[in-house]
Amino acid sequence: MSKVPSPYPDESDGYWMHYHDEDSQRLADAIIAYAVDRVRMDPPPLDEPKSLSVLQREVGETITAEGLGALKALEIFTEQLAPSCISVDHPLFLSFVPGAPTESSVLFDLVVAASNIYGGSWLEGAGAVYAENQALQWMIDLAGLPSSAGGVFVSGGTAGNLSALIAARWAWRQRERGAADRIRPIILASGGAHSSVGLAANAMDADLVSVPVDAVNRLTAAAIRRVHLGLSVDDQRRVCAVVATAGTTNLGVIDELDAIGDFAREHNIWFHVDGAYGAAALCAKSVRHLFVGIEKVDSFIVDPHKWLFGPYDCCALVYRDVRIGKAAHTQKAEYLDVLIQDAATQIDEAYNPADLAHHLTRRVRGLPFWFSLATHGTEAYEEAMEITLQVARDAADMVRASDYLEFVVEPSLSILVVRRLGWSPDDYTQWSDRMLHDGIAFVVPTTHKGETVLRMCLVNPRTDPAQMQMLFDSMRG
Ligand SMILES: *Cc1c(COP(=O)(O)O)cnc(C)c1O
Repeated sequence: MSKVPSPYPDESDGYWMHYHDEDSQRLADAIIAYAVDRVRMDPPPLDEPKSLSVLQREVGETITAEGLGALKALEIFTEQLAPSCISVDHPLFLSFVPGAPTESSVLFDLVVAASNIYGGSWLEGAGAVYAENQALQWMIDLAGLPSSAGGVFVSGGTAGNLSALIAARWAWRQRERGAADRIRPIILASGGAHSSVGLAANAMDADLVSVPVDAVNRLTAAAIRRVHLGLSVDDQRRVCAVVATAGTTNLGVIDELDAIGDFAREHNIWFHVDGAYGAAALCAKSVRHLFVGIEKVDSFIVDPHKWLFGPYDCCALVYRDVRIGKAAHTQKAEYLDVLIQDAATQIDEAYNPADLAHHLTRRVRGLPFWFSLATHGTEAYEEAMEITLQVARDAADMVRASDYLEFVVEPSLSILVVRRLGWSPDDYTQWSDRMLHDGIAFVVPTTHKGETVLRMCLVNPRTDPAQMQMLFDSMRG
């Protein structure tokens, strides 16, 4: 290794960690080659996790006083660590909510990493924030929100829900003009709401009041009205937000957004829609009608890292009135004052992304999604969304055509929840383990009303109906 001479003569070896030499050029070539190969794998190997003891034995200690050298460390990653991680973009990774980032979004993520832009303030990241905001604007327009709307990309749906609900609490306390400053807020949500809503309530020391769902697992305005009426007058005044879900994680159900929006307006309660998974489908004309009412929200979230073909980690958090997000979240500190002055006096309408959520430093994590959207155009997104929806419909027809499978709930977006007649919980687990171990598919069971069933979530346009048929056939035996 050729070393750059150190400005300090007694460092006889020289200091090279921040300097470029022929070794780092070789590393750059190896990394670009690996990244390009990885993003082009179609399909990538599914891979599977290894136990801690196996990793300890096979990988061992990687942090040493002298360092391993870049090529050795890279080899450990490519040969041992990466294959011990399941590939979320495998077309038969159907557990949880998978991801399927476009080639352009992943390659541009390398550029985002290399640029290391500070995305917390307009002062430091104006150009990047400008582009992120255009990507956000596409979703704001799809949802039909007014020009007062704006938002920020946060790490995920969990961070997005928390930040939105903190803004809801701020608005509620403003409205109560000091009378609620020491009172615990109440959040109304259904049992189908994502666990992160409960976590947010916990973090905020709010009471989460669970509203029962209807026969098709939807949260309805009628049920909310009943629960609200059952509260004491004092408790009714404590309600700061109602949370509906546009595509529940377990079942894919879209709540009764329109009527819930009316209820929230009527009672002056903040209306938040968690669309982390499902609101991506706002761009698909074939299902757009399912989202009617989303234009009434005070805030909503959607995760581009789920069904909008971007890499981790990325959640779009949108406020109907961006000023409320800002009032609720802006940090004040001597060393940050310059940012406030800058935004207020020099740059019209500009705001600091740091001010809109529970964070400060942030990666410009919306840029890979922006780059892909700018590259391909919105019509390509609509098409990719319609393709996934069509594969889900075709797969649903296969379930209906079989005599050993049936739906636990009728699918509405791209989540299929299926019962294999005659299977015990162990049968589901054994089939699931075998599929993963054989490198075929990653589909884990879930439970619904205490019953073990299979749940398949499709977000990858490369998932093929023939593969779905093969998967269903493997459950026959
Ligand atoms: C996935 C999901 C979340 C959590 O999002 P993360 O990005 O994993 O934090 C929240 N709500 C819904 C409806 C989800 O599907």
